[in-house]
Amino acid sequence: MVIDAHLHCTGRETAGDVLRALDEARIDHGVLLAPFLDNGYSLHDPGSLRRANAHLARLVKGHGDRLTGFAVVDPSDARSSTDLMRAIDAGLRGCKMVPSGWYPYDDHVQPLFATAAEARLPLLFHSGIFIDGRSGRFCRPTFYEALRDHPGVRVALAHVGWPWTDEAIAVALIDRIHGVPHDAAMFRLDISFGPPPPFRREVLKRAIETLGAGSLQFGSDCFLPCSGAEIAERRGWVEALMDELDWDAGTRAQVMGGTAAAWLQMGSGTPGTQSASDADSDSRQAPDTPPPVRPEPVEGQALARSLEPDSSVRADDDSSPAALSRHTPRHCRRRGWLVAGGPRRLGPICC
Ligand SMILES: [Zn+2]
Repeated sequence: MVIDAHLHCTGRETAGDVLRALDEARIDHGVLLAPFLDNGYSLHDPGSLRRANAHLARLVKGHGDRLTGFAVVDPSDARSSTDLMRAIDAGLRGCKMVPSGWYPYDDHVQPLFATAAEARLPLLFHSGIFIDGRSGRFCRPTFYEALRDHPGVRVALAHVGWPWTDEAIAVALIDRIHGVPHDAAMFRLDISFGPPPPFRREVLKRAIETLGAGSLQFGSDCFLPCSGAEIAERRGWVEALMDELDWDAGTRAQVMGGTAAAWLQMGSGTPGTQSASDADSDSRQAPDTPPPVRPEPVEGQALARSLEPDSSVRADDDSSPAALSRHTPRHCRRRGWLVAGGPRRLGPICC
């Protein structure tokens, strides 16, 4: 099963649009985030977020086997806990937050985190910089260590925290060091890019060798409505890197679906899962159990390996000095990294 764990709604999409795009991109399940960037929706307007969450609840209703809706709230708003639980009651199953004007360790946002932890909700946070002019200073990965004060939370940090990718990997590593099973870990990393092309191969290589596949999950970060081809293109970026890095089938399946399925607790009857009333007559099969994953590397060995020179790097690969010099803006546009046409078209590290 392939799960796209990071898809943005804009308020202009319909369930039909979304399902069609997922089918075209061969995505079995999509995690949809309530709109919060434009079309009258704003992170700084709680009323607009309530409308956004209501829109998404209507959209996913009856499609729980294909779609999981995540509410968006501003935890610095005093009503955010109430708004979140109202959205959950309406059928949403997780929460996305984007620190903007607040830090994850601020005292005044902890009540919302406590509410989410008590409800056992999967949480997705933006981490890293933005490329649309907003400051990313609120979104450094280590700031999210404050979530450890809320046992039971299941957090995904988006974009591997780029440019603070080492920091994001370190935050997720703590669970590995303490032997917490991947499924029960507080932190996993959403590999939506994030790192621009010259960085991607190295970032994924370091992340997989340090954390294992069970800590990494695929997300396209596409904005709906969009074509299936757009989602498939971003899926292709990841699959090409998997080929380069020679990941085995089990590792690929874990990153493309298994990790997110555990994060969403699919099939457990808890938030983030399909409920019986959600099931519709879609003939698709229930989520498959991911194939077995290769044994996790012993952490110390993996860390040591990650510090060794990488003899497999080719002179012409994306991270070589020669390749870097080719990454002019035109080259990056052609590669799909920077896409002209306004903030929603910027693609990676939007939020
Ligand atoms: Zn995003």
